Amino acid sequence: MPFGIHQALKVIVMKCRCGSKAVYERKTEGSFYCDDCLARQVEKRFQKTISENKLVKAGDTIAVALSGGKDSSALLYMLNNSKNPKTEIFAISIDEGIRGRGICLEKASCLTKKLGIRHFIFSFEEELGITIDSIKDRKTCTYCGVFKRNLINKKARELGANKIAVGHNLNDEAQSILLNFLRGDCNHFQRLGADPVKDKKFVHRIKPLRDIPEAEIVLYARIKKIPHINRRCIYSYDNQRRDILNMLDSLEKKYPGTIFQIVKFYDRIKPLVSKSDKVSIGYCDRCGEPGGKLCKSCQLLTELKKLS
Ligand code: SF4
Ligand code: ZN
Repeated sequence: MPFGIHQALKVIVMKCRCGSKAVYERKTEGSFYCDDCLARQVEKRFQKTISENKLVKAGDTIAVALSGGKDSSALLYMLNNSKNPKTEIFAISIDEGIRGRGICLEKASCLTKKLGIRHFIFSFEEELGITIDSIKDRKTCTYCGVFKRNLINKKARELGANKIAVGHNLNDEAQSILLNFLRGDCNHFQRLGADPVKDKKFVHRIKPLRDIPEAEIVLYARIKKIPHINRRCIYSYDNQRRDILNMLDSLEKKYPGTIFQIVKFYDRIKPLVSKSDKVSIGYCDRCGEPGGKLCKSCQLLTELKKLS
């Protein structure tokens, strides 16, 4: 019997500890969960990551980077539900200028309206004079990722946020660890984690979902009926991150717990790595944003001008 069918049948016949029908097996602990118990488990892990890493405190103004996908939508939903009355939350979405992404922004707006949260949308076209669809270079995700990170940071800071919450889940974190390892990128490697970098112009980025597996967030978003869209970007098929994702998925199927162990291993070695090579940020001479004498965003914009 194919592996996937066998697993599905196993979940169908198993019961949750509460006696209800199971919808999910957490293989790392050999436990089965029904909808309600799984949702509670996800929220418990979310709270644990926040409290262990002191990610949120009363008086914070948090900008949630909202793409309209399951992760950032679930993040906004949970942050809003658990927030202290003295904590302010708003959402920022970026229109990258990618075919078919309009529906993601619509879902993001739908969620923010439902939760009564302020929502700001900025576009690459208006802010940078480019669209991702117009880039004639295979490194699409490099351009998009760098521009998006810089723009969200700048806008969140201008809008008064002291924190940016991003929807990186456990799988994303394991991918980032391996990606930076394979690229030999020590600078980025030591800046991963739930609570990455502090700098006066670099708004403090937090990752409250980094201990929750992707599969659990998919189910959580469905169980809580959170408006979101499950659609992959048309440029996500041909890049190194996608290859790492496929490799990790097959390792996780064969050896459950692999992804969790990669992230835990990183957490153990991070204090050693951080001491060995101090992170230096610096400010860009051209745009004034954090990222060295000429920030990555300005470097890539210069490259694009040469290509056009
Ligand atoms: Fe941008 Fe690449 Fe993500 Fe698409 S997959 S939104 S191009 S970073
Ligand atoms: Zn710059």
